[in-house]
Amino acid sequence: MSSLDELYKAVLLDHYTHPRNRGVVEGGGPAVDLRNPSCGDTIRLSLRLDEAGRIAEVRFLGQGCSISQASASIMTESVKGKPAAEALALAGRFKAMLRGEAELTPEDGDLLALEGVRQFPVRVKCATLAWNALEKAVAAAQGEAGEAGRAAPR
Ligand code: ZN
Repeated sequence: MSSLDELYKAVLLDHYTHPRNRGVVEGGGPAVDLRNPSCGDTIRLSLRLDEAGRIAEVRFLGQGCSISQASASIMTESVKGKPAAEALALAGRFKAMLRGEAELTPEDGDLLALEGVRQFPVRVKCATLAWNALEKAVAAAQGEAGEAGRAAPR
């Protein structure tokens, strides 16, 4: 294994053991709960858009394997402060990368540490869980700004 693999392993372990942006956002859109049945990973994602449509705050709670939780932590850091449309574009690009249909760039930072997951198809759902939750949470927050956005509270 190359030293790059070792570096990426260390990045994932760091996010897993010291998750960023953990918790629940108060006063944001409805929280989104998702589960990855193939592994048992769970995530609750909440976020708040500012008036300009940027992701002002995003937080997650969850349990599961290191890939799912590290991916959630990296996701929150990657999209915080970004316009919602840009965050959704990144989610699309990340998922395309895991299907082998796109490449990440050095500007994607810690996200690069998840590139190796595409070699393990059973783990891809672990890595995409948080990003699927992001897409739903953005849609829910945008819907709330419009109409009929509030999902059933849990
Ligand atoms: Zn998992």
